[in-house]
Amino acid sequence: MGAKKGAESRIDELRQLIRHHDRKYFVENDPEISDRTYDRLMEELVSLEAEHPGLVTPDSPTQRVGGEPAQGFETVTHSVPMLSLDNTYSPEELREFDARVRKNLPGEDVAYVVELKLDGVSVALTYEDGALARGATRGDGRRGDDVTANLRTVPSIPLRLAGELGAVVEVRGEVFMPRSGFDELNRTRKREEAPPFANPRNAAAGSLKLLDPAEVAARPLDAFFYQLVDASSHGVETHHEAIAAIAAIGLRASPEASLCDDIESAIERCGEWQDSRGGLDFDIDGMVVKVDSLDQQRRLAATAKSPRWGIAFKFPAQSETTVVLDIVVQVGRTGKLTPVAILEPVFVSGSTVSRATLHNQDEVDRLDVRVGDTVTIEKGGEVIPKVVNVVKSKRKGRPRRFRMPSKCPVCDEPVAKPSGEVDLRCENVSCAAQVKRSIEHFAARGAMDIEGLGTALVEQLVERGIVEDFGDLYSLDRDELIDLERMGEKSTDNLLAELEKSKDRPFARLLFALGVRHVGSRVADVLAAEFPSMEKLRGASEEALAEVDEVGPVIAGSVRAFLSSKHNRAVLAKLERAGLTMRSKRRGSRAGSSPAGSRLAGKTVVLTGSLEGMTRDEARDAIAAAGGRVTGSVSAKTDLVVAGKDPGSKLAKAKKLGIETIDERRLRKLLGA
Ligand SMILES: [Zn+2]
Repeated sequence: MGAKKGAESRIDELRQLIRHHDRKYFVENDPEISDRTYDRLMEELVSLEAEHPGLVTPDSPTQRVGGEPAQGFETVTHSVPMLSLDNTYSPEELREFDARVRKNLPGEDVAYVVELKLDGVSVALTYEDGALARGATRGDGRRGDDVTANLRTVPSIPLRLAGELGAVVEVRGEVFMPRSGFDELNRTRKREEAPPFANPRNAAAGSLKLLDPAEVAARPLDAFFYQLVDASSHGVETHHEAIAAIAAIGLRASPEASLCDDIESAIERCGEWQDSRGGLDFDIDGMVVKVDSLDQQRRLAATAKSPRWGIAFKFPAQSETTVVLDIVVQVGRTGKLTPVAILEPVFVSGSTVSRATLHNQDEVDRLDVRVGDTVTIEKGGEVIPKVVNVVKSKRKGRPRRFRMPSKCPVCDEPVAKPSGEVDLRCENVSCAAQVKRSIEHFAARGAMDIEGLGTALVEQLVERGIVEDFGDLYSLDRDELIDLERMGEKSTDNLLAELEKSKDRPFARLLFALGVRHVGSRVADVLAAEFPSMEKLRGASEEALAEVDEVGPVIAGSVRAFLSSKHNRAVLAKLERAGLTMRSKRRGSRAGSSPAGSRLAGKTVVLTGSLEGMTRDEARDAIAAAGGRVTGSVSAKTDLVVAGKDPGSKLAKAKKLGIETIDERRLRKLLGA
């Protein structure tokens, strides 16, 4: 009894400490203790809760990710409708807004608060007795989706408020993805051959719609809050006080909010941010101007659609017009044909743009873009510029409509449009464009990692007919190589040594290097663990492949099709003859039956930060050899996180999820090195 009582008060103390440090770290960006000290607190709490499961409460910092994936979301009716603000696009319109406001408040002074307008997803959070009870999306403004389980995983959203405000506290704000996290997420998705997100807003919205909170936890989400619902019941009388109150209870409050005496200084603030928004780590698409006095807000009230006390000032989209010089068709590694607009070079938000993808025929038709047209190019949060529209008034004469070719522009073979897809494909495996791209992929880092085999050399090898596929790389002739442009003896010998070295790359890396559609490095690891040799993989039926966790019917079909192609069999035979690794090193046929006693067997491991004694690829291979699997992002399925020097957000995420974290030294021990 006494022991339990002791545990109870220690658990309580630990939770308060962890909440305090979470707030310092995630909300205020001002950590007070080292990661190691934080880890110890978290570890102690996890183990105490494991000993006393009866004391686990939903607001414990260990309980961010809980429960099974949902089937769908419940609908929530908002206590007060979540109205959206009207938009304005010029200082004149802001002055008109001010005139309307003051007409309704004759003789009164009106102060405004100017805030950043985040380009994210609007949400409402309800805390009951200090604990996070419900989180919902805006939806249609009256009813939204209950995404509580997903919002609980956002590290800057406290599960328990830091200060007292009332029995029920509702705040509203915006969930968003910082640009740095967005870039990292897209890099990971590219490695795993998942489609990248177009911009941080889409990524944030897509993340909140995921049904499995464990997956949401791996997405780098953050949130700012800018409205305290029914603020006057909490003794707050102005909007700027409400923002201060939101910060005081431990939430991230709307950043950079400033109080302005009149509309002219509000307009000035808007102009300043329009110029300096590039310095932020998140996207804003404008500013918000709100009447500061809540009493005045109440008297101004709202129309059916939007409040009369606030307005959005949207920044003009960063766009330019230019001329389409040509539309060309590119052929990718998997044979996909993509129309690309070649543009008269133009400078848009920080860089010169000279080409823009048009995706496919459907998109070309939608825009009705033709050679010679003047088009508007836009670059928002996206890295890739896009053609927004055609300035039809500037079209000269009657240029021909663009049609995708019926033959591959590179190899002249007929192209196919697989049913259910919008893309055209060249299915000729000997197509020079595909051969070049597939050799580049084969030699890339993370695949066979062959240094010195760059684009220019691949170009020459294929154009001169020296190699027809990557299987020929291993029978390259030294004399023939020396004769190539920019080669010479030294680089030739280096390349041959690199090729020799690549023969020892693990089976999983080879599987990835083959460039099978939909088989990214992660899926290759899974396949190599389930089917530890090329022979076993060849022998596996489509059904057997599809049954593997993380594989499924699409990948299974793609693997089967690849392995049954006569051409691919011939390439594989060349690789086999050259002595490449065609089986996983360890014996046994399943993940889990790896070297007895290996603590990494069957474990899902994430690497973060830089390692000193080995490269990431080496670490990855060594972990795979010990029966473990390296994945790109931290989720509830992660067993172990290896933190090198300067670890990133993955470490913080791991801590949130209570996942075991080790350093490089410990990893070496586990690897028996
Ligand atoms: Zn072709």
